[in-house]
Amino acid sequence: MEEAKRIKQLPPYLFARIEKTIEKAKAEGVDVISLGIGDPDRPTPGHIIDKLCEQAHNPENHRYPSSVGMLKYRDSVAQYYKERFGVDLDPKSEVVTLIGSKEGIAHISLCYLDPGDVALIPDPGYPVYGIGALLAGAESYAMPLKAENGFLPDLDAIPEEIAQKAKLMFINYPNNPTGAIANDDFYRKVIEFARKYDVIVCHDAAYQEIAFDGYRPPSFLEYPGAKDVGIEFGSLSKSFNMTGWRIAWAVGNSRVVEALGRIKSNIDSGAFQAVQYAGIAALSGPQDCPAEMSEVYKERAKIVIDGLNSMGWNLDMPKATIYLWVPVPKGYTSISFAEMVFAKSGVVITPGNGYGEYGEGFFRIALTVEKERIEEAIGRFKKSIGPLEF
Ligand code: PLP
Repeated sequence: MEEAKRIKQLPPYLFARIEKTIEKAKAEGVDVISLGIGDPDRPTPGHIIDKLCEQAHNPENHRYPSSVGMLKYRDSVAQYYKERFGVDLDPKSEVVTLIGSKEGIAHISLCYLDPGDVALIPDPGYPVYGIGALLAGAESYAMPLKAENGFLPDLDAIPEEIAQKAKLMFINYPNNPTGAIANDDFYRKVIEFARKYDVIVCHDAAYQEIAFDGYRPPSFLEYPGAKDVGIEFGSLSKSFNMTGWRIAWAVGNSRVVEALGRIKSNIDSGAFQAVQYAGIAALSGPQDCPAEMSEVYKERAKIVIDGLNSMGWNLDMPKATIYLWVPVPKGYTSISFAEMVFAKSGVVITPGNGYGEYGEGFFRIALTVEKERIEEAIGRFKKSIGPLEF
């Protein structure tokens, strides 16, 4: 049963490893607090669940769905883009339903990358960008996200021969894992770069609705020319606490959207229609959930930041996402710090190098546990992991 080279090359999925560590410690009686995985802890709003239940009873929804999604769902995505971003989308040709944005992010590489091609990926970054390229037999080129550049890639630093070979560029703002946001100037530069080198931009906007202090993350598609060069992935997972439902979209350039739909029609058969109806309820119903969750994450972020700053860190509040990206103290690597923290406090943090080489020197905290547990985690840090040098 010799496995194919492509699967043998897959690195162990970071979170699978973390889950194993947690299970082992729990079995040994440790009261583990996991700040490791970015999976919203609050339930999906009731009106969305009700819509699923109602539609699950309809036999019409028990049959194969369309692989590109119901027009009604795609229509509600288009409506949301119009109202939220002022972006016009043709629901028939510029929107495709996804079974979670992870699915689309992985499949887009199969649409555009052949061996010898290059995908430009952010480092640190969501691991699926590079994995998709690897499964397509292509190469990834890491665009470093450095603190001194506000965790934006420096497009001028991409070597000419790499830019020539690049077919896809993944970008992601608000950003996982750094919590950074992008400015107008950056998006304009990305579009210019994409035009010059004939690169398809894939903007991952999974955290588009989780933002603080009045900041409203833009859509990539708001920028002139964006639709000519790329697509945006969006998802209900984080905005409406729906990670388990697997419902998302890709929108933008009609040729790219069509190619993604073509791959999907040959691999999966689309999202359960009752879930798409629930998605419509999320997009077209009350928008309280993302606003409330943003407040919840902001409060949690403040507790962590105040706690860590009182231990010697010097962190600012992020503007968006459910993550904090924190430098490790002197004398530690990302891994050695995360291991020490777990051993001494039972708190799981994610070592930054799990998101790529340039994540070394950082760790990520996911704000997806209740405030009391976050306070408990900070209390344990103060008791057990100091003194630290910076
Ligand atoms: N993109 C980023 C940056 C993420 O962090 C995640 C999930 O954590 C996803 C995409 C995938 O989200 P989903 O497949 O649930 O839509």
